Amino acid sequence: MTGQERSEEKSECVSLSPMREAVPAPPECERVCVFGTGDLGRSLGLRLLQAGYGVVFGSRRPHSSSTLIPHGAQVLGHAAAAQSALMIFIAVQREHYDFLVPLANQLKGKVLVDVSNNLRKNQYPEANAEYLQSLVPGAEVVKGFNTLSAWSLQNGPSDANRQVYICGDSVEAKQVVMAVATMLGLSALDRGSLSMARELEDFPLQLFPQWRLPLRIAIGLSAAFFFYLLIRDIIYAYATQGKDISFRIMVSLANKVCPIVSLIMLSLCYLPGVLASFLQVYRGTKYRRFPDWLDRWMLCRKQLGLLALGFAFLHVLYTLIIPIRYYVRFKATEHPVSVIRENRTTMFDTTTAWRGDSYLSLGILGFGMYVLLGITSLPSVSNILSWREFSFIQSKLGHLTLLLCTAHTYLYGWNKFLSSSIYKWYTPPGYMLCLVLPSVVLLLKLLLITPCVDHTITRIRQGWERSEMGRSEEP
Ligand code: NAP
Repeated sequence: MTGQERSEEKSECVSLSPMREAVPAPPECERVCVFGTGDLGRSLGLRLLQAGYGVVFGSRRPHSSSTLIPHGAQVLGHAAAAQSALMIFIAVQREHYDFLVPLANQLKGKVLVDVSNNLRKNQYPEANAEYLQSLVPGAEVVKGFNTLSAWSLQNGPSDANRQVYICGDSVEAKQVVMAVATMLGLSALDRGSLSMARELEDFPLQLFPQWRLPLRIAIGLSAAFFFYLLIRDIIYAYATQGKDISFRIMVSLANKVCPIVSLIMLSLCYLPGVLASFLQVYRGTKYRRFPDWLDRWMLCRKQLGLLALGFAFLHVLYTLIIPIRYYVRFKATEHPVSVIRENRTTMFDTTTAWRGDSYLSLGILGFGMYVLLGITSLPSVSNILSWREFSFIQSKLGHLTLLLCTAHTYLYGWNKFLSSSIYKWYTPPGYMLCLVLPSVVLLLKLLLITPCVDHTITRIRQGWERSEMGRSEEP
C-alpha cells in the first residue's frame, strides 16, 4: 500500500471526538489538523504521522505546500482542513493570527493548540494564547508544545526534551491535548488555566536562569582574587625588588585563583544549609518560610557545586603541567649545580616529606569526592538513588569533601601562618583568605552535630514546635 493510499484511507476514517472518550482510542482513525506548513508545523505533522494519527495541514496555498509536507499527510485550505479534525495545532506566527477570524464558524467547538513563542518578554500586552482565544471565542484554546523545537520534534523522544507544559480553561480540551502528547512520547504537565499562558510563553526565553547567580559569584571571585594576587605576587616583587616575574600570571597565578575560588564556592554550597538549620533552631519551628535570599541561595547549590568542581578540575590540570614548565625545569637543573658549587649539603627532612605527602594525598582524596558529588548531581544518576542515598552523598560526603579540601589548604600553609614575611604589604596570602569561609562552615556544622543541637533539629524536622511545648506546659 503506498503512502498516498494510506493517507486516502485515513481521510476516509471518521474523526473520533476524544472529548467524548474517557480513555483515548487507538489513534489509527483519529485526525489532527495543523495550520501552517512551516518548520514546526511539518515536524509536528511528521511526529503525529509516526504516532499513527491522520494529519491534515491547513495552508494558504495548499497546492504549492503539498510538496513540503511529510509523506502520508494531506494538505487543504484552512476552512476544509478545520472541518476534518477536532484538534488543530496553530503553527503560525502570532502576527498572522487574524487569518483565523473569518474561520470563526468552522473553528467553533474545536480545540486550538497555541504553540507560539515570542522574541522577548512582554512583547504584546496579552499572552498569544489569550489573544487567540479573543479572536476565536467559540473555540477551546490550549497553550502547549511551545517549549519544544522543530528540531527536537524531528529527532524523536529519545534524543530530546520530553516535557511539555500545557494550560487552558477547558479541562476536556486539555485532556485531548495531553492524550495526543502522550501518544507522541511526550510527558505533559498541566499548568492550570489559560492565564498561565504568558508564563509558558516566557519559558523558552529564559537563558540558564539557575546558573546566573553562581556564574556571577564565580566571575566576581575569580576577578577579585586575580587582581589581589597580581598585586601581592607580581607587582610587589617588581616594586620592592625590581624583579619581573610577570610570566607567572599564566600558570602560577591561575593555579592559585582556581583552588581559591573552588574552595569558597564549595563552602557557599554548604553555608545556606547550615544557616537554614540555625534559623530553624532559633525559630523553634520548620513551618515558617525562609527569607527569599536564603531560598534563592539554596536553589542554586547544585550549580555552585558544579562550578566549584570545574575550578577544582582546572587546578588539577594546572598542577599536572608543573613539571613541564620551563621555569620549573630550569630551577630543577640549577639547584644541584648551585649545591655542588657552594659545597652545601642538604639533609632529608622527614617532617617536610610527611607534610608534602599528606598535602597531596588530601588533595587527591578531596578531588575524588568532589567528582563523586558532581556525578551524583546529574539527573540520570540522582534519579536511580533513593532520597536517603542522595542526601547521604550530598550532605555527609559533601561536608567530608569540604573538610578534606580545607585540610589540604591548611597543609599548604603549614607553618607559614605565623611568619610575618608572607604578609606582603600587610596583606595575607590568598589561600589564607579562602580558608575563612570553609572554616566557619565546618565549625557551624560541628555545632549542629553536637548531640543537644542535633536532637532539637531532628525534633523540629519531625514537626515539633517550641511554642507547642509552651502551650502543652500551660495548665
Ligand atoms: P515558519 O517556519 O515561519 O512557518 C509559519 C507558517 O505559517 C508558514 O509556513 C505558513 O504556512 C504560515 N503562514 C505564514 N504567514 C501566514 C499568514 N499571513 N496567514 C496564515 N498563515 C501564514 O514558523 P515556525 O518556525 O514553523 O513557527 C510556527 C509557530 O510555532 C510560531 O508561532 C513559533 O513561535 C512557534 N514555535 C516554533 C518553534 C520552532 O522550532 N520553529 C518552536 C516552538 C514554537 P502556509 O504557507 O502553509 O500557510
